Order: sequence, then C-alpha cells, then structure tokens
Amino acid sequence: MEGNVIQAELIAAPAAEASTQRRNREMIIVMKPSTTKDELEKVVGRVKEIGYQPHVLHGVERKVIACIGDERGKTRLQALETMPGVETVMPILRPYKLASKITSPGHTVVKVKADCRNGATVPVGGKKFAVIAGPCSVESEEQIVETARAVKKAGAHMLRGGAYKPRTSPYAFQGMEEEGLKLLALAREETGLPVVTEVMNPSDVLVVAKWADVLQIGARNTQNFALLRAVGKCSKPVLLKRGMMTTIEEFLMSAEYILSEGNQNVILCERGIRTFEKATRNTLDLSAVPVLHKETHLPVIVDPSHATGHWELVEPMSRAAVAAGADGLIVEVHPRPEEAWSDGAQSLKPDTFRDMMKALMPFVKAMKKSL
Ligand code: PEP
Ligand code: MN
Repeated sequence: MEGNVIQAELIAAPAAEASTQRRNREMIIVMKPSTTKDELEKVVGRVKEIGYQPHVLHGVERKVIACIGDERGKTRLQALETMPGVETVMPILRPYKLASKITSPGHTVVKVKADCRNGATVPVGGKKFAVIAGPCSVESEEQIVETARAVKKAGAHMLRGGAYKPRTSPYAFQGMEEEGLKLLALAREETGLPVVTEVMNPSDVLVVAKWADVLQIGARNTQNFALLRAVGKCSKPVLLKRGMMTTIEEFLMSAEYILSEGNQNVILCERGIRTFEKATRNTLDLSAVPVLHKETHLPVIVDPSHATGHWELVEPMSRAAVAAGADGLIVEVHPRPEEAWSDGAQSLKPDTFRDMMKALMPFVKAMKKSL
C-alpha cells in the first residue's frame, strides 16, 4: 500500500492543477492484484451507470480502468473505492497509463531469449547491466560473424545490426533486408547472442520477428503509430528509441501504443535529441534516464553512438550513462570502421570496445549492478 501512495503522487494531479487542466477529467480505478473477473465486471458496469466510458488496461501485475467522462461525476466515481477488488480511485495527470508505475510498481525486467540451439537469455532492467553491440548495418557474412565473435569475447550480451536502414538519402545504402536478417541469425547460431535489429515498416514486422530476437524501432519511427501497433501485436521484445524531437511524455505515449496492444516487453532507449549544438551529432539527454525511471517501470538503455556521432565520445558518455542509472547500452562496433557502409565515424573497433567494457566495470559496480 505504501508503494501505491508513492505511485499515486507520481501520476495523480495536484488538487489545484486538477481543476484547470482538461485532461484531468480522466480518472483511473486501480484494481488490486487479486481482483477477480467478476469484481472487475461489476466495477466496469458501475462506471458505465455513472456515465463514464471505461477502458480496461491490462498491466503486468494489475488491471486499471481508465474512466473518460464529465468532471461532475468525479465524486460518484470516487465512491467506487468501496467496491470489492478496488484499490484506489484517482485523477490522472499523466496521459500514459500502462507505461506508468501505477500499473506495474517497481521495475520491469525484459527477458530476451536468443532463438537458437545454444541461445542465451538476457535480462534487461534488473541487477545485470546489459550491453548490446555490433555494426550499424549488416554488410556481409564475414563482417557480422567476425563482429559477433569479437563483441561476445569482450563481454557483450546481445548483437545489433541493421538489415533495414533508415537513411536520410534515398541514394545511400538501404540495408541487406531479409538477406541481412539471415546473416544475423547465422551470427546468433555461431555465438548464442540474441540479435537486435530495426523494423521500419508494418508490412516487414512478420519477417523481422521471424529472424530477430528484439525488434528495434528507430528514432525516425518513434511516432509511426501504425508500426508501434504492429510490433505491439508481436510476442518479441521491442527496443523503442526516443525520437530526436520527441519529449519524454511523447516517448512514453509511444511505449503506451505498444503496451496497449498487449506486448509488455518494451525497452526504452535514449539516443540523443536535436538541439542547436553541432559539436555532436545529437545531444545526449542523460537526464531522461532518471526522469524515465521515475515515471515508468520499463527498462531504459542509452545509445552513446548515435547520440554523439564520434567514436572517442562513446566511452565517456557510456560511463556517464551507467552513473545516471541506465539499465544498459547499445553501441556500434565495426571490425574496420573506416570501411563501414554506414556510421563508421561513431563505430568502435573491437579492441576499443573491449577496453571500454573494462573501463565500465567500476562504474557498474558502483551502481550495485554487474556486467
Ligand atoms: C541505428 O541504430 O542504426 C539507428 C539508425 O539509430 P537511430 O534510429 O537512433 O538513429
Ligand atoms: Mn547507425
């Protein structure tokens, strides 16, 4: 109960604000984890009788009923706190519900399973710090297998590599597509590392989910709502990147799209936002890490490669990400960055990546986590 008081503070509107903001008309009824189907139905029925429109949201641990309707019925709704199965009724300030801590107190640990014979299961969001490494793009069998072996040896837990690439220019390399997915699966077979790869189009979700272990939604697609709904219908975990121009609230609303379709395995990724600064490719908003941890139960990782655009900045910003409380990192590594087909300037060589992993050790320990 004590935990719920804290959560209530996180999402409930302060009294003065409640009367002024339009969306505060929304009330939520938080059901107890032990609530029965019958109790839930009775509460839903009563909500309708009072003149509110109920939306039942299925969280990991409990159900929440979002009630949309007129402010004037609020006190009658509040009285439903006396009904069996109801834990609390409160106004909601935040527009996200399933992503908020109220539906799943604490921290969600997303368990990624490598779909192959010797595949590892990698937790993201617990006491183990998760590192995803690999090239920006899959370029050849030799390149991806060589990289997979090298990053595994250095201690990475998952392999990344793009097969469908979102490129600013239509003339730039667009990725190897399904051929690239097959090469990722081959590298997984060789190393046991789960593979993370981007999906750009709702019509590609099935094929990407067939080969990959984690579906990445890139920064340019953070608000592609059709794509978010499509991966939400999938059973594979999703790595959702923050758009370069999305606020933290918008970012969480994108996560809400995926969660509301039934996929609870969402990993958030801060990858830098666009500012006036030109010294770096983007500006790494590290304060997003503790803000997100305060607002949501979902794990949060950091991408220092796309955030900075320069390989020398990857290690210092990785150390800072660990210290800020990130649950993991996604880092670009290429055996020969000078020959990379995309993002060579921000890619680490395998040796530099190995040194970085060693340098991160004391920071991870200081955060009471292990690598
Ligand atoms: C990537 O991971 O290669 C990528 C394109 O990242 P982002 O969507 O963050 O730019
Ligand atoms: Mn890249």
